[in-house]
Amino acid sequence: MEFWVHVLNFILLLSILGVSLNLLLGYAGLVSMAHGAFFGVGAYAAAIVSRDLGVPFPLTLVVAVAVTTAVAAAVTLPALRVYGEYLILLTLAFQMVIYGLMLSWTDLTAGRTGIAGIARPAVLGTPMTTPTQFLPLIAVLTAVAFAVAWRIGESPFGRVLKALRDDERATLAIGKSVLRYKVAVFAISGAFAGVAGGLFAHYQAFINPFSFTLDRSIFLVALVVLGGTANLLGTFVGAVLFVGLPEMLRFIQMRQDVVDAVRNVIFGGLLVLFMRFRPEGLVPEHSRLGRRRRPAPPPPDVSGAVVIARTARGDGATALVAQGLAKHFGGIRAAEDLSLTLPRGQVTALVGPNGAGKTTVFNLLTGFLPAETGTVTLEGRDVTRLAPWRAVRAGLARSFQDVRLFERMTVLDNVLVAIPDQPGERLGPLFFAPGRVARAERDNRERSLRYLAFVGLAQRASDVAGALSFGEQKLVALARLLATEADVLLLDEPASGVDPQWVARILGLIRQCAEAGRTVCLVEHNLEAVLAVADHAYFMEAGRIIAEGPPERLMADARLAEIYFGKGRR
Ligand code: ATP
Repeated sequence: MEFWVHVLNFILLLSILGVSLNLLLGYAGLVSMAHGAFFGVGAYAAAIVSRDLGVPFPLTLVVAVAVTTAVAAAVTLPALRVYGEYLILLTLAFQMVIYGLMLSWTDLTAGRTGIAGIARPAVLGTPMTTPTQFLPLIAVLTAVAFAVAWRIGESPFGRVLKALRDDERATLAIGKSVLRYKVAVFAISGAFAGVAGGLFAHYQAFINPFSFTLDRSIFLVALVVLGGTANLLGTFVGAVLFVGLPEMLRFIQMRQDVVDAVRNVIFGGLLVLFMRFRPEGLVPEHSRLGRRRRPAPPPPDVSGAVVIARTARGDGATALVAQGLAKHFGGIRAAEDLSLTLPRGQVTALVGPNGAGKTTVFNLLTGFLPAETGTVTLEGRDVTRLAPWRAVRAGLARSFQDVRLFERMTVLDNVLVAIPDQPGERLGPLFFAPGRVARAERDNRERSLRYLAFVGLAQRASDVAGALSFGEQKLVALARLLATEADVLLLDEPASGVDPQWVARILGLIRQCAEAGRTVCLVEHNLEAVLAVADHAYFMEAGRIIAEGPPERLMADARLAEIYFGKGRR
């Protein structure tokens, strides 16, 4: 009996660690190969302060959490500029360094010998020595860890993490500070690993470096992937599988090294099979199991018109001025002495052959590329050097030629995540002002449905965005852009690559946005669309504006037509 309780305790401990990694990997899409090390940092922190300073439990756990949080946050400093494979390599290096320190810093860690005799937590003077005595403590802390992780993962904060996972550039483009979220999620993940590590040290009463190897980190990644990313129930199922299976194998009468080999073959085989046939894991993100709720269908009478109206109506006054912008890529002149003006409440088009520099202009205006020279002024405010997410908060947002929806999120969440200043995006209100967070969430959901109703897609709110047609995705991207509440909207090829009936709809919506007081600038290759929707147009060639005026006048210019059709496409 004690043996099975011990197995259960291990399942629970490992699921805290799995939750810690799932927040990073499953929600934020940040792969950490250092979770074995984070776990070890927590364990050693608790063991050392208990041994050397006589700190009692649960204060040791507080120290473990503090140290692991700080260490995990420190990893993010170099990690902020790296992602994808580079992040994997960086965390791998971190794992090796920490493991090396555990082995070699013998004064502190006692090296290979490890630290023995770690004090057991005591209740009313009686120390917990058996697995059964430990079980309530581990179970309560696991329940708390799951509850906190669930609150974080299924909140507006967690929604931004999922956006970050699906598309980092698009997350910046809806006005979220990717940097802040990365540091926060690494720190939170570290805190969970600290709890698991500290508990482990007290439970075992002995630790050595061999519990915190790279194997442990790989094992944890496999656990989260097999269980199901961005789904906490999946993490628990993964922990049951990963702890339970090796324990079952103990009952097979074989030598230990053969059992180990069999276990590795089974796990390796399972991982390959899952990657091939069920990459979303045992309990997928959008399964009904383990998910809080599906977005409710919109009320049939929801109307979008009211939501796009601005208080300052379009009056033709200048909303944005760019002066003397320049950008070169090696010998390529992508923008040169480029100046333009966007009148408030009007649609301005940027046309020109392929490679003329139109998208580069959008990148320069919104901070996605730093300008070599020149200034950008938005409603009288200098926004030239703002980071992309700050530009959005200042009121200047852009869409992408290749749409860049958050494909694994629902259509509703794609729009909802873009609404600025949500109280649930901050951890303080999330845990200490739940009423305010819930009210804001209700209002923002309704608001998002109105944006979706405006583009005619409210009935698709519950669908996963990646399942929509290209035309529908462009409409969701427009709704998402409107939800940022920016007044100046830069639309990169909003009508290209979509069926003609969608084009008419998209152009109608763009006109409505302008009439409601938003300022629109669009890059578009479909010249009929430009004629239909734009009040004014700039013609670019080789990084320069070579003509401007009413679209119909530019289109009638034989010289421009030759430049455009000679080099461009029809
Ligand atoms: P299209 O209509 O085909 O989208 P565009 O007018 O938007 O073209 P840009 O994408 O702005 O043109 O590109 C302008 C020039 O700058 C092109 O020659 C392009 O190859 C080059 N360019 C753009 N971005 C980069 C980059 N990050 N690195 C190197 N060259 C770039």
